[in-house]
Amino acid sequence: MKIAVIGTGYVGLVTGTCFAETGNKVVCVDIDQAKVDKLNAGQITIYEPGLEKLFLRNIKEERLRFTTDLASVVDEVQMIFLALPTPPGADGAADLKFVLGVAEELGKLLTSYKVIVNKSTVPVGTADKVRAVIAKNYQGDFDVVSNPEFLREGVAVDDFMKPDRVVIGTNSERARTLMSELYAPFVRQGNPILFMDERSSELTKYAANSFLAMKISFMNEIAQLCERMGADVDMVRRGIGSDERIGKRFLFSGIGYGGSCFPKDVQALIQSADATDYDFKILKAVERVNASQKIHLVEKIKQHYKGNLKGKRFALWGLAFKPNTDDIREAPALSIINALLKEGATICAYDPEAMPNVKHQLGDSIDYANSQYGALEGADALLIATEWSEFRTPDFERIATLLPSKLIFDGRNLFEVAKMKQLGYQYVSIGRPADLT
Ligand code: NAD
Repeated sequence: MKIAVIGTGYVGLVTGTCFAETGNKVVCVDIDQAKVDKLNAGQITIYEPGLEKLFLRNIKEERLRFTTDLASVVDEVQMIFLALPTPPGADGAADLKFVLGVAEELGKLLTSYKVIVNKSTVPVGTADKVRAVIAKNYQGDFDVVSNPEFLREGVAVDDFMKPDRVVIGTNSERARTLMSELYAPFVRQGNPILFMDERSSELTKYAANSFLAMKISFMNEIAQLCERMGADVDMVRRGIGSDERIGKRFLFSGIGYGGSCFPKDVQALIQSADATDYDFKILKAVERVNASQKIHLVEKIKQHYKGNLKGKRFALWGLAFKPNTDDIREAPALSIINALLKEGATICAYDPEAMPNVKHQLGDSIDYANSQYGALEGADALLIATEWSEFRTPDFERIATLLPSKLIFDGRNLFEVAKMKQLGYQYVSIGRPADLT
């Protein structure tokens, strides 16, 4: 099939590359000329494990190319995927200006039947809006389909190639047939394609992300109780996770959820609910819990230093909102940095992939190290904000040499409390007994 993907960010680039990998001819369109030039030169623009190999192979096979010229591609494709940003507007509702702006352009460019597939996360009713905007300028036949994306950054290629499910919202038989054909290679192992109406499909995406965010906030509140009651959240997690009705996954407490999806999608669903006069009480609490959890580690640090962080220097391991990505949107590490700088502390950070993005945003307000150990030089304590694998089994002897205080504040519970005690570390983590002298 011939496909256009409009918007070549985390979702668009993975979508375009994976559709090309299954034999389709894909053109990715973006308004960012520098990004398109880089991609056409064979340079990948995001860090995503496994993506570069597929990206290079499909460019070489001439199944994948990039352009800024939407007008030149519309006639030659059958399906047009929208993978555009839907950031929060001033009131928290999803801002549809990118999606509707492109719909407007498409209305002026369509000359024959196309399926317009929306992959962006959008409020219920957006498919109707897109349809109406296109129909202002184009009276021919076309379909608008909702096809929310569930990939996770860090494992996006795997998630796209082997999705748990594909959700497709459409009432059109013609669109349904094309979508089934396109997705057939991705569901060969029996994972379902769930066809439904557009509104249910649009809501499914928000419900999924909100539910996952709720799980995180719930476990973070249990962690708060553990700290007050002398229990261990790791034990409680195992205790409840072995109940099949609860499940083992997504039960880790830490320093809150971040990234480009959970915060904005929770906010947008609250807004959508408010707009229908429904007060989504649980989700409002999920948000409040997350906001306080993001700076919980800083509170522990302040408590340790009796409220005075002036002149203290901290090594910070991890900046990305989660491991295996360079994405720092809404990363808890940034909240921690801001809070510590406000208290007069200085920071030397290290992240395997996200430092260029942080440098771009924070400039020289913090220092950057070339290695995780380099960050420790002259530090009063080590803070851990992202659970990159390479942080999980560090050289503790080397840390002890570089960090005489042997003091670690771990926002991701990477190490065993008993082991740290045995090694003579002062170790503070989330929802587990702390050992401070
Ligand atoms: P992104 O910011 O990484 O990428 C968006 C791209 O769209 C950018 O390259 C931007 O230049 C481009 N763009 C903006 N306006 C354009 C226009 N008029 N024409 C062409 N290109 C244009 O965003 P993302 O993370 O890929 O997210 C896209 C959508 O997918 C959002 O709705 C998001 O909620 C949803 N989503 C994201 C993820 C994720 O993990 N990132 C997962 C599932 C769903």
